[in-house]
Amino acid sequence: MDAAKPESGFYNPLESMDREAAAARKFDRLRRLISHAYKRSEEFKARLDGAGLTPDDVASWDDFARIPPLGKKQLLALQDGGAGLARLLTGGVAGLRRIYQSPGPLYDPEGPGPDYWGWAEAFYAAGFARGDLVQMTFSYHLTPAGLMLEEPLLELGCTVIPAGPGNTDVQIDLMTRLPVTGFVGMASYLAVIADKARERGLDLHRDFRLRTAFVAAERLPESLRQKVQNAFAMTIRQGYGTADVGCIAYECAALTGMHVSSRGIVEICEPGTGRPLPPGEVGEVVFTPFADAYPLIRLATGDLSRLDDTPCPCGRTSPRLAGILGRADDTAKVKGQFIYPAQAAEVVAAFPAIVDWQIVIQNPGGKDTIEVRLCCREPLDTAAFAARFQERLKLRPQVTVLPSGENIVSGSPKLLDERRFE
Ligand SMILES: [Zn+2]
Repeated sequence: MDAAKPESGFYNPLESMDREAAAARKFDRLRRLISHAYKRSEEFKARLDGAGLTPDDVASWDDFARIPPLGKKQLLALQDGGAGLARLLTGGVAGLRRIYQSPGPLYDPEGPGPDYWGWAEAFYAAGFARGDLVQMTFSYHLTPAGLMLEEPLLELGCTVIPAGPGNTDVQIDLMTRLPVTGFVGMASYLAVIADKARERGLDLHRDFRLRTAFVAAERLPESLRQKVQNAFAMTIRQGYGTADVGCIAYECAALTGMHVSSRGIVEICEPGTGRPLPPGEVGEVVFTPFADAYPLIRLATGDLSRLDDTPCPCGRTSPRLAGILGRADDTAKVKGQFIYPAQAAEVVAAFPAIVDWQIVIQNPGGKDTIEVRLCCREPLDTAAFAARFQERLKLRPQVTVLPSGENIVSGSPKLLDERRFE
């Protein structure tokens, strides 16, 4: 097995800079972005004017948090099927390199410059380096994935095989006939390649030279990571980003979560209000990329996470996102507290007697109630469950153990908000 090349230094000096100095540098860049966007983007000017702010008013992080976030649904409405795209751009179409299309349809303009989407530092942290021959299995047309993730590889001096998705036999031929050391795609697809190669009688260690994979676009369970890493004797690292803004966060060698990118501002905010939350609290990922051509300032991604700002052994000083913990749409606010199914799932996991569960929120007579319905295989200490739930979610639930034979409707949401507001 080829061991992963040891990491030498960092791609961007901001990554290892003293936290306060890095924050000051980012804030300078942010102020330039805000001033530019206010002058050139109709959308951002309207949003700042609507909040009663001018660019000069944004002099601190607290001021920045007063800018209303831009939700995905708002973005869709603003683009208006493409007719409204111009009001989000600062230099019209002429300043762009490409425009992609995401479901919605939502259009994703790509501005000028190398590695516009900012993935190079993520690939560097994953261990990609000059001399790697990398097979790209994301799609190259319409959606940005293939080209967006090829740019950083070229930037790092890697050589790319633009294989695109599918054609597993061809993918295997490429990997075994050429000295392919890198893979970019989905981890689940790498598992498919492993199975197919074994069926063809290939030896995954002898016939493949894979060393590093960068995966994205799906949840990566640790079991899948381990399985594929062991199969090929390689390293797998994942990144998190969106088609609108590019790289938001990525894993380092230490696997302590996903370091936030140097090329933008990551905030964890209360869903709906955009109020920033302290490290450790779950909230919506709000990202501001330093992208002058298409400045999506405070874009609310709809993804939930929390920030970990404890030191990382890799030497990067940036805080880390603790994975993606669900969608902001799947939350409900009760008595001032947000309920996240992911947090409830953590509580449930501590009680092996529980086989299924659902949270139901109602408001009889205008008063919010929260009920946890449980299916259990054996008797449960409901008081202990309620106490644990309250400790984690800050709300005391009514706990109902369903009689045996009665089940929670399969496929129904973990959080059911049945409140009526008339
Ligand atoms: Zn690290």
